Amino acid sequence: MLPSRVLPASGEALDGYLERLADANALQTSQLITMLRGEDEFPRRSPLFLLIEPGDSYVTRIAEMTGATTEMLDATTLNRFGGGLPLRLDGFDPLDRHSFRQIVAQGWFPNTGSQICPQCLAHDHIWQLSWRLPIVTTCLIHKTLLAESCRGCGERFRLRRYSPLRPVIGPDEPCGNQAGLRTYCRHSALEHVVAPAPQDVLETAAAIAGAMNGRPNTIFREPTSPHTYLAELRHLATLLLHLATMPRGADCSDWTEQLAAEAAARRTELRGPRWGFSPPRSALARGKTLSAAWQIFEQETVERGAERLAPWLEVIADTPGGPSNWIDNRTTRSPTMRRLVAAALADRRCAGRRIDYLHCTNSISLQTIPHLIDVELFRKFFEGTLGSYEWTARLYVSLCLARALRPGSTWAQAASGLGLPSILGVRTARAASQRMHIAPDELARRVSAALAVLPPDRNYRRRERRVTWLADHTDVWFERWRMSVSPPRRADSLPYAITWLWWEVAQGWPASGPASTIMAGPRRSDSYQTFRRRLPREAAVGLRSLVLMP
Ligand SMILES: [Zn+2]
Ligand SMILES: [Zn+2]
Repeated sequence: MLPSRVLPASGEALDGYLERLADANALQTSQLITMLRGEDEFPRRSPLFLLIEPGDSYVTRIAEMTGATTEMLDATTLNRFGGGLPLRLDGFDPLDRHSFRQIVAQGWFPNTGSQICPQCLAHDHIWQLSWRLPIVTTCLIHKTLLAESCRGCGERFRLRRYSPLRPVIGPDEPCGNQAGLRTYCRHSALEHVVAPAPQDVLETAAAIAGAMNGRPNTIFREPTSPHTYLAELRHLATLLLHLATMPRGADCSDWTEQLAAEAAARRTELRGPRWGFSPPRSALARGKTLSAAWQIFEQETVERGAERLAPWLEVIADTPGGPSNWIDNRTTRSPTMRRLVAAALADRRCAGRRIDYLHCTNSISLQTIPHLIDVELFRKFFEGTLGSYEWTARLYVSLCLARALRPGSTWAQAASGLGLPSILGVRTARAASQRMHIAPDELARRVSAALAVLPPDRNYRRRERRVTWLADHTDVWFERWRMSVSPPRRADSLPYAITWLWWEVAQGWPASGPASTIMAGPRRSDSYQTFRRRLPREAAVGLRSLVLMP
């Protein structure tokens, strides 16, 4: 027996534990490995094997040396997460390379190397086993994302190639990754700053942790066993990753930037990244994707979940062979996934599709629809139903109207039909579908009603062009208009006058207007509001006529 007998801590990984054991007994980690190996050669093909299946004789020897029970030691290996919580390790044999490939093929299998919570590690020097799992992204104690790689060497922590233990250990937790022939990265693992986890990522992480502890959960309010829950969450997150890394999906969310870079690095000539096999490295990207999947499963019914998934599917709407085919090639066809995808692709499920089938009687063209639907129409038909900021909600209504005029179109096409970037259509629809307070049927009815009263003789594309022209030729009109009003408007009110034209007359999307309409900072915005409030009626009429003149 070793003189100093340290026991494994709760949640501790076997390799970290052995390092603590060596340290407590003033041994080099290599000396401890030699002692443990004894007569028989421990299979050294992958240091990861130690964590999957250290072998009975190895475990017995550690137990003899430390007084730890074999149950305690078993809990330091990935067996703790076996039985589908979330890993399946059946059939693994350390001597059979093929069996290793098989368990890795289940997807989202721990890589060699670990993530860390630097604060937890600084507090108790325990390397948590759960940090190895890609489905784990967050420290629930510190409410932060995990650090996924060392700032010193840029690799995952504990990226061991031969021995599972770090050659150098110490209270500053040196990274220990191989840097050269006999040199190691000495960067302290404790010196990493991690970002707070967003609220939705935290809630998802809590649900995942619960399931990993065997707690049943629900998908669409139906009771689901923890292993099915974890598997389905992974399947749906995988699909969302594939969608988010499609060319048009890249700017769909604020967290997809890093993801796009990793996707580009992993894309080969033959195929894109295999997210189902190995998820992104970024804890934020994984956390956010899992959270998007979790939010879909939290819906009351599969139909409601499908409504949330539908805007994601926009990016593959015009894929050769159809979206269904595309999804089949990238998703595990589990029962839940099949139901969800079928519902999302079914014509009747998503608001956009429903609008497509509106019977449109008045023959009006896209030009009659402004970027932002008229305030009066919006208040009359949609007030309080869309839950977004009024600008976004008005844009969404305009997109719905555009889709109604072009059956079979997508949100992206609806946006470009109004002269807006197509990605804005996808983003707006996605945001709106998450906040909508009414059923798609009801929305479709209201869109239809609004369409029926839309004045057919307007041309907003011409108004937009005209405002842009006026912004480029201010010498033609500004001075004249300014002096024609009593009292005259101030000379520095030019940008506000152009903004007023863009917003009030062209009803244009703020970010698409002439440069001088961009409101940089709240002061600028306040000044505009003052200008708008104090604009005399005759001055407004004069400005308006500049755009509407025949
Ligand atoms: Zn922590
Ligand atoms: Zn390092």
